[in-house]
Amino acid sequence: MTDPRRTLPAVHVLLEHDAVRALVKQVPRAAVAEAVRDEIAVARADPARAPATDAEWAAAIAARLAASERATLQPVLNATGVVLHTNLGRAPLAAAAIAAIADVARGFASLEYDLAAGARGSRHVHCAGLLRELTGADDAMVVNNCAAALVLALNTVADGREAIVSRGELVEIGGSFRVPDIMARSGARLVEVGTTNRTHADDYRRACTPRTGAIVSVHRSNFTVDGFVAAVPTRALAELAQAAGVPLLYDFGSGLMLDLAPWGLHGEPTARDAVAAGASLVMMSGDKLLGGPQAGIILGRGDLVDALRRNPLARALRVDKLTLAALQATLRLYREPARAAREIPALAMLTTPVESLRMRAAALLARLAAAGVGARAADTEATVGGGAFPSSRIPSCAIVLDGDARRRERALRHGALPVVGRIADGAVWLDLRGIADADDDRLAQAILEAAA
Ligand SMILES: *Cc1c(COP(=O)(O)O)cnc(C)c1O
Repeated sequence: MTDPRRTLPAVHVLLEHDAVRALVKQVPRAAVAEAVRDEIAVARADPARAPATDAEWAAAIAARLAASERATLQPVLNATGVVLHTNLGRAPLAAAAIAAIADVARGFASLEYDLAAGARGSRHVHCAGLLRELTGADDAMVVNNCAAALVLALNTVADGREAIVSRGELVEIGGSFRVPDIMARSGARLVEVGTTNRTHADDYRRACTPRTGAIVSVHRSNFTVDGFVAAVPTRALAELAQAAGVPLLYDFGSGLMLDLAPWGLHGEPTARDAVAAGASLVMMSGDKLLGGPQAGIILGRGDLVDALRRNPLARALRVDKLTLAALQATLRLYREPARAAREIPALAMLTTPVESLRMRAAALLARLAAAGVGARAADTEATVGGGAFPSSRIPSCAIVLDGDARRRERALRHGALPVVGRIADGAVWLDLRGIADADDDRLAQAILEAAA
């Protein structure tokens, strides 16, 4: 029998095919040659599935080129029902934040230039004023994310010293963020107190020694515990820390700036609550419930924030002008809470009445039916995501597609505008809670293309 690998065409032969030569008119020849070589390598590894005809070779090479031209970081529609989905980039930005980014991205900016004084300025001024105003904090600074904020705070106040934390708060926040690991990297030595379910004020008191650099409190943002449980409220912990003469670092996480109780979301403190509880430093994310860009926001005592700014690590964790522009524009919206709830997409999505989702679903179904695509609407429960309101279920509505669920889900993911949904009960469910109403047209288009 002949070795099938000997029948594979050579690179230069494939490059002379008319269909492949046509590709060279659109894409640099080197890129086409690379795609040809890759395609031959794949065929050699799996000869049974190698293209058989010239037309098949050309199609395979064209598909490989198209895939390599596409950006790996693409916009998607989030139909998962998890609004602040970390894998899908967390909070979408408000129009004002996007405009602010475009404005400073285009050219130069007064990032570290004080226009009033005509002298060198500081990037730390851009969001500090608004953060003070909106949260009541003494001072504020912004770093790359909440994990960075925790590392910077610990390193500044407790490097080579002990940081006391409850065993009930040694949690994993996301795939690569475990509180004990992050704390260890900061140079602080972790001192665990209490038990998984119960930690008392006396546990902290007994652990305070002259070696203590800080007491750390981590908000249980992505899980709940109930039953026989006890924790020390932040306010009491702040008093305890003050009596011991050490700062209380409060990793608060969500960045919630507005009380969402009127919309049925209860139980998360706001940033203002966190500051008022008396922690020396409060750390939170910019891209969770705050609804802004990825950032770590540190609120708290002026002398401590000043020390954080002077820590050389701050240079490694600093944010760029795009982040500061987007964060400042997002924060400005909070000066009018009703406007913030309307214009910050994460808040708008979380507070939209389920009736309006049902109406949108009905309109979408009519369009799908007119194009012969079978689907129905179903009530669902969405979640906030992003490590906040872990037990809250938000009434929502989904489009449930007829047909082979795996094929449909795959086709939706591979479309020009990928749609990420979920499979349940043998069908694809596209939850509308995380889809902006302005995106309904694009969603309908994507469903129709995937069904074609
Ligand atoms: C989400 C979260 C973090 C991590 O925030 P990043 O901005 O993703 O670094 C840390 N602590 C708590 C309590 C959180 O909820």
